[in-house]
Amino acid sequence: MILNGALDLLFPPHCVACGALGTWLCEGCTAAIVRQPSPSCVHCGRLSNSARCRRCQDIPTRLASVNSYGVYRQPLRKAIYDLKYGGMQVLAEPLAELLANAWVATGYTCDIIMPVPLYKARERQRGYNQSALLGRALSRSLGVPCSCDCLERARNTPPQVGLSRSERHANMADAFRCRHTLVGKRVLLVDDVCTTAATLEACAAALQAAGAGELRGLTLARALVRTHTQ
Ligand SMILES: [Zn+2]
Ligand SMILES: [Zn+2]
Repeated sequence: MILNGALDLLFPPHCVACGALGTWLCEGCTAAIVRQPSPSCVHCGRLSNSARCRRCQDIPTRLASVNSYGVYRQPLRKAIYDLKYGGMQVLAEPLAELLANAWVATGYTCDIIMPVPLYKARERQRGYNQSALLGRALSRSLGVPCSCDCLERARNTPPQVGLSRSERHANMADAFRCRHTLVGKRVLLVDDVCTTAATLEACAAALQAAGAGELRGLTLARALVRTHTQ
C-alpha cells in the first residue's frame, strides 16, 4: 500500500482519453463510449435477435452469442490501445468493469472464463497478454473461475488487418488447441476487440473438439465490418 501510495504521487492516475486526474478512465469518457447494440450478430455485429442476422444466417458459427461493451471508436479505442501497446496494465481493472457490465446485462451464465491466448513469443515480447489481464479481472468481478492455460495458440498468425472475412477465417484456422477436456463446460471467451469473430470462432473450434458445451464471446469493443461481402 505504501508503495502504491508513492507510485500514485509520482505517477498519479489520470484518464488515458482526456488526461483528467483521478482515475485511469474518467466518468465522462466512459459515458462517451458508443455502446454496441445487444443482442447482435456474431459475424457482423449488427443488431439481431438471434446469434446470426438474416444476412449472415448461411455462415456457420460455433458461438451462441458475441457481446461487446462498445463500438471500436474513441475513447474506448484509445483505452484499448494503451492497455495493449502502451504497457498500461492498470487499465485492465476499469475496462473489466465494462465487460462485467455488458455480460451481466445479457442475463447469460457460464462455468468458466477463458481469455484468447497470444502466441507465446508475442506474449514474452509484450510482457503480458491483455486479454488474460481482462479475463482475470472479470473473474474477480463476477466470481466465475478463469483459466489462462487451457487454450493455447498453436501457431503464430499474421495480423488480420486489411483481410476480408474469409481470409480472416482461413488465417485463423487451427490456430488454437485445448490442453484439457472440458466435458459440457459452458465457456465464456474474452478478448479486447472483435471484428468478424474469426479469432473467437477458431478458439471455439478448439474448445468444441475438447468437449466444451455452450460457447459465448465477450469483448470490450466491436469493430464493424465495412460491407457484408467481407
Ligand atoms: Zn476522461
Ligand atoms: Zn450479420
